[in-house]
Amino acid sequence: MSTQTVIVGGGVSSLRLAERLRRAGDEDPITIVSAEQAIAYDRPPLSKSVLLDESAPRPDLTSTEELEALGVRIVAGRRARRLDRPGRSIELETGEVVPYDDLVIATGSTPRRLPALDAVDPHYLRTWDDALALREAVHRCARVGVIGGGVLGLEIAATAQALSREVLVIDAAPHALARLGSHDLGRAVTDLHRGHGVHFRFDVTTESAVKHADGTITLNLSDGTEEIVDVLVVAIGAVPVTDWLDGSGLEGGDGVDTDASCRTIDERIHAIGDVARIEYVPGGHRRLEHWTNAGDTAAVAARGILARRRGETRPELTELPYVWSDQYDVKLQILGHIDAGSSLLSAVEDPETGRWLRLATRGHEVTGVVGWNMPAAVNRCRAALMAGISVDELLRSTPWERKARR
Ligand SMILES: Cc1cc2nc3c(=O)[nH]c(=O)nc-3n(C[C@H](O)[C@H](O)[C@H](O)COP(=O)(O)OP(=O)(O)OC[C@H]3O[C@@H](n4cnc5c(N)ncnc54)[C@H](O)[C@@H]3O)c2cc1C
Repeated sequence: MSTQTVIVGGGVSSLRLAERLRRAGDEDPITIVSAEQAIAYDRPPLSKSVLLDESAPRPDLTSTEELEALGVRIVAGRRARRLDRPGRSIELETGEVVPYDDLVIATGSTPRRLPALDAVDPHYLRTWDDALALREAVHRCARVGVIGGGVLGLEIAATAQALSREVLVIDAAPHALARLGSHDLGRAVTDLHRGHGVHFRFDVTTESAVKHADGTITLNLSDGTEEIVDVLVVAIGAVPVTDWLDGSGLEGGDGVDTDASCRTIDERIHAIGDVARIEYVPGGHRRLEHWTNAGDTAAVAARGILARRRGETRPELTELPYVWSDQYDVKLQILGHIDAGSSLLSAVEDPETGRWLRLATRGHEVTGVVGWNMPAAVNRCRAALMAGISVDELLRSTPWERKARR
């Protein structure tokens, strides 16, 4: 008897899961239910090359032909609105009921809104349609205001700056990238942007905004000052999409909780990608909004689904968290864990090229690495980090010399 896998969400994690199941020899029916019409296009270029180049096409990760060859049934442009766990089915907004044997929640995340600014209808960036609207606006204005100095806000700022727009970034924190917790990194990135002419307003929030007849927007800041921009983008983080799970027992909290196998409290339901809050270590759940995490979690969930059916032991996620960000000519990479409790120890500083590599440490343990235009070195640290190598061992095992921080 065949078993039906239903994947809710049509992003990169969903596509990777279907591919992984097929690659592992699963010939049973797979259905992808997607709120968007387009299945699995790439989001990272939306704040970079797509925003920069008015002729850049949608960065599709697959095609109708490839999905057909994969033998996946696509239900596009329809949102799942309810999960019925006892009945093992989901209900779509059209009323259609789709039964499942295994369900994968891959509904991603959506931009956090700033209701105080609804009156001026600011831009948010998540989808292809969002990107088209923002691109159109940025290419036809002089001044861009970005609320939020996180990774996404800074990428938008860098692209707008590359288009010679006047750019202002506003953030409630004292420096950029505050959510990552590292002051050193935040300052380095802030300096990079200032060097390119981006203006910052830190330690202030935007209380309200007014749109004028000529389209310009006045922002009223918490310190009583005003700023005027032509285009306003809000990039203050994202929230997991779990509204359709209300009443299922899987809702609540920041995403869908899973164990290290991406399995929820229901053995027939996995959660992957941005929406999943995964137990990396016992008792330590974490939700990652990273492209690589989408693929890693999809791979583990696919193997877990097949393991359940075959009565085998389920695999666990062993991959390290990894995120990259391209801003100007800098590739910033963060591998492993870095948070407010981490100290950053300099492993490489190259004053000529400006490249550097820093180790995030807790006591004698290396928990992560941060690279600034050092992709090969970051990659070389991967195995060492996974092996739980100590700071001294890692520094000894590389050709890099420990240098005094400046
Ligand atoms: C502009 C931008 C730039 C980025 N740049 C980087 C980067 O440089 N580096 C990096 O590591 N990461 C980056 N990311 C993050 C990365 O793209 C995400 O981590 C990744 O897309 C997550 O994939 P996902 O499949 O979990 O979710 P998503 O890609 O969000 O896909 C989820 C899909 O589910 C659909 N959906 C939601 N609810 C329902 C429902 N009820 N029924 C049916 N379908 C539903 C959504 O419409 C969406 O199509 C970027 C993200 C954005 C938006």
